[in-house]
Amino acid sequence: MKKNRITIIGGGIAGISAAIHLIEKGHSVSIIEAKKFIGGRAGSIKAEDTFIDIGQHVFLSSYQNFLHIIKTLNLEKKFIFNKVLNIPVSTDKKTYYIKSNIIKYPFSILFGVINYKNLNLIDRFKLIYGLAKLKLAKTSLNDSTFLQWLKTNKQNDQIIKKFWKIICTPAFNIDIDKISYNSAINLFNYMIFNPKNTFFICYAKESFQSIFMNSFTKYLKNNDSNIHLGLKIESIKNKKNGIIKINTKKKIQFETENLIIATDYESTNSILGIETKEKQSSRSAIINIYFWFDSIVMHEDFKVFTDSKIEWVFSDYYNKKNKSSTQRLIISLSDANKLLKLSNEVLINLYETELRKQFDIDRDVETTKSLVIRSPNATQFTSRKINKKLKNIFVCGDWTIEELPNTMEAAALSGKKISEKNF
Ligand SMILES: Cc1cc2nc3c(=O)[nH]c(=O)nc-3n(C[C@H](O)[C@H](O)[C@H](O)COP(=O)(O)OP(=O)(O)OC[C@H]3O[C@@H](n4cnc5c(N)ncnc54)[C@H](O)[C@@H]3O)c2cc1C
Repeated sequence: MKKNRITIIGGGIAGISAAIHLIEKGHSVSIIEAKKFIGGRAGSIKAEDTFIDIGQHVFLSSYQNFLHIIKTLNLEKKFIFNKVLNIPVSTDKKTYYIKSNIIKYPFSILFGVINYKNLNLIDRFKLIYGLAKLKLAKTSLNDSTFLQWLKTNKQNDQIIKKFWKIICTPAFNIDIDKISYNSAINLFNYMIFNPKNTFFICYAKESFQSIFMNSFTKYLKNNDSNIHLGLKIESIKNKKNGIIKINTKKKIQFETENLIIATDYESTNSILGIETKEKQSSRSAIINIYFWFDSIVMHEDFKVFTDSKIEWVFSDYYNKKNKSSTQRLIISLSDANKLLKLSNEVLINLYETELRKQFDIDRDVETTKSLVIRSPNATQFTSRKINKKLKNIFVCGDWTIEELPNTMEAAALSGKKISEKNF
């Protein structure tokens, strides 16, 4: 097979995944990334002298394609793999657990639900019924909403609020009443009803930048490949001799015979010179609010709230176990378009007050720092295809994967698919 040098625009998860799969097939790659850092929507920003992730990123044991990146770059030690299902859920300031020490699917999920005392016993059995029905359900041409399906399958308001909503809203980054039946079936089948994997939650111990940057650049270098950072591509042009000319904003030009565009939907269209008609309403924001306290205020790595606006909260408790020192908490707010109009000051006030209430934080405990990071384009609801015939130009990115919501797994899968299919 002919070995090619392939140019990839975009150093997010999709671009990284495409690069790894192409290198595994013996090709070499050149990545061109607009920002000074890799990672895209899963990446980091520089805040004072450290790197902070754009938002808390979690993944599941079933993210096999994202895990392939971690394994290839030998980065397993930089992540927490919980190994068993354990989700602390707070309602009325009391903590309940979706918890099971059993590793084998489906017993892990079954016992997780049976142990979940936030629901009464009858509701727990109804939830098991709902999960079993969903496992057996098939996607349908009449794609109704998932909420309608839940209601017609014995899932009452309590079960929806205390189970389905806390899983589905962050996964899709939209409110549960907007999730379609088909996409819910796909999500649960891919990510949760997975006989090969116990369902558990994983996250990084450090920022994306500090984990990935050096190891990925080294990996590229060792494989006759490279990355150009801080170069935004403005346009591309197919020349008659089959060469694709790539124009950057800084007027530096590249030429290639094979191009993968691994950017978000709007950037992809813009690079290809296609006008998009997507409106603002087809995007869904995520807002992350960081708080630093001068004491330990949370004794779990993460916690979900069913009756509070703080939703999912993550801490760096995994670094601090048995030591009393400072602590960083991150409130992760999905489906956050409405919150975008609030100022940072208002957001910080609102959410700090709520955090203090929910965790009973003593008045003496000081908030030493806070930071709001807004991602207005976290999720783009788009058509999955590009309206242009392209020769030797291939497109990937989380938005191209029909069966999954916009996640790191969708991005990693898209990079794998594009390289396996075309090279
Ligand atoms: C705050 C937040 C929290 C999230 N939490 C989770 C989570 O917990 N779990 C999960 O699985 N997913 C989560 N996601 C979603 C996940 O981050 C994305 O689905 C995934 O990272 C998308 O990867 P991608 O490579 O497809 O696209 P992107 O990350 O958008 O990467 C595209 C890259 O292309 C670059 N680029 C764009 N235009 C150009 C150009 N013209 N020239 C050169 N380069 C260009 C960009 O700078 C970027 O680096 C979250 C997203 C956000 C924003």
